[in-house]
Amino acid sequence: MSNVLIIGAGGVGQVVAHKCAQLPEVFSEITLASRTEQKCRRIAAQIARPIRTAQLDADQVPRTIALIERVRPKVVINVALPYQDLHIMDACLATGVDYLDTANYEPLDKAKFEYKWQWAYQDRFRERGIMALLGSGFDPGVTNVYTAWLHKHHFDQIDTIDIIDANAGSHGQPFATNFNPEINIREITQRGRYWENGAWVETDPLSVHRTFDFPEGIGPMQIYLLYHEELESIVRHFPGIRRARFWMTFSENYLTHLRVLGNVGMTRIDPVRFQGQDIVPIQFLRALLPDPASLGPLTRGRTCIGVLAHGSKDGKQKVAFVYNICDHEACYREVQSQAISYTTGVPAAVGAEMMLTGKWRGKGVFNMEQLDPDPFMAAIGPRGLPWVLKRLDAPMD
Ligand code: NDP
Repeated sequence: MSNVLIIGAGGVGQVVAHKCAQLPEVFSEITLASRTEQKCRRIAAQIARPIRTAQLDADQVPRTIALIERVRPKVVINVALPYQDLHIMDACLATGVDYLDTANYEPLDKAKFEYKWQWAYQDRFRERGIMALLGSGFDPGVTNVYTAWLHKHHFDQIDTIDIIDANAGSHGQPFATNFNPEINIREITQRGRYWENGAWVETDPLSVHRTFDFPEGIGPMQIYLLYHEELESIVRHFPGIRRARFWMTFSENYLTHLRVLGNVGMTRIDPVRFQGQDIVPIQFLRALLPDPASLGPLTRGRTCIGVLAHGSKDGKQKVAFVYNICDHEACYREVQSQAISYTTGVPAAVGAEMMLTGKWRGKGVFNMEQLDPDPFMAAIGPRGLPWVLKRLDAPMD
């Protein structure tokens, strides 16, 4: 029986609040805090169990400390934006409370996806006797656990992994992102990067692509190579992996909009002087684009996210793909959100469940693949994200 504090009342925060509320035997009391308290109240009104709400600017560490001292949670689930990660970790350190997030820290003025800032908290968390679980969404998150589980049960040696993320759904909008537009566009417009033979190989943004035939009737789609943060932790914790790549699907329409926005400077993250004040184009663009939370009732179709591994077992070559398929409309019926928020929010709640039930315990800062994958794999299906393991004939080229 534990008290939980969720910070961030966006698309993902909504799912986390619903999923924690579905498990009263683990999450006995829930407080949802965010910059705009009205959004917390709107989510609380969707849920039959009472949920407390609070206004919080999580960049103000003393205020977060004061809220934690008032609520006295066993864990803080951070589903605000990556910019808040270090501030919330500081507040957890000051109060001696466990921490969980779904995306690694990014400085506002640089789109950089690196764990170094959060890994630097390792000694302080260990000495304080508390645990930080980093990246407990789907990717990062479930994809890290899939890799650890394949490694533990299905391969003696994994040579290559390809993490593949498809949104085979449609929201009918000319251009919209499925999670926070600013974070999403910063990620996609970066140079691509993958791990090969002990070094990072860089590629021009979205320049490497393939066709991948997705299972269960989704069929062939174009996938584009991106850098994604879980690659950094996975190759660190599984040094035997020779090559690790991340792929995501995009429609031609999406890429054309993105190209035009980039060409005219609307995806810039540096301030531009406009009519006597500084504005950051990507933040202005975010204000114009549909709020991802508003896409819930509009989105149809499915997502498929998985890990394709190639290696050996008992002296024989083997290729396996473990994946989840999630239906946008089914998610909306359950928690009034589309599948991108759902596939992030469910693992955040399950990660917290693992910590609160003692299945995952430790002192210090952990990535998901460092913990035993079995209890998480057992829980994630019943909580809403069932997985399938499939043998394939050949690895990806
Ligand atoms: P949204 O933009 O929908 O929600 C973010 C929420 O955080 C908003 O309610 C916002 O408040 C709040 N917030 C922002 N700044 C602060 C602050 N300083 N103090 C308190 N609250 C704040 O984003 P999403 O829900 O789509 O994404 C949430 C997180 O999930 C992001 O970090 C994203 O990167 C991550 N994510 C991870 C994925 C994974 O698979 N691992 C996949 C998708 C997302 P306000 O409404 O007032 O702006």
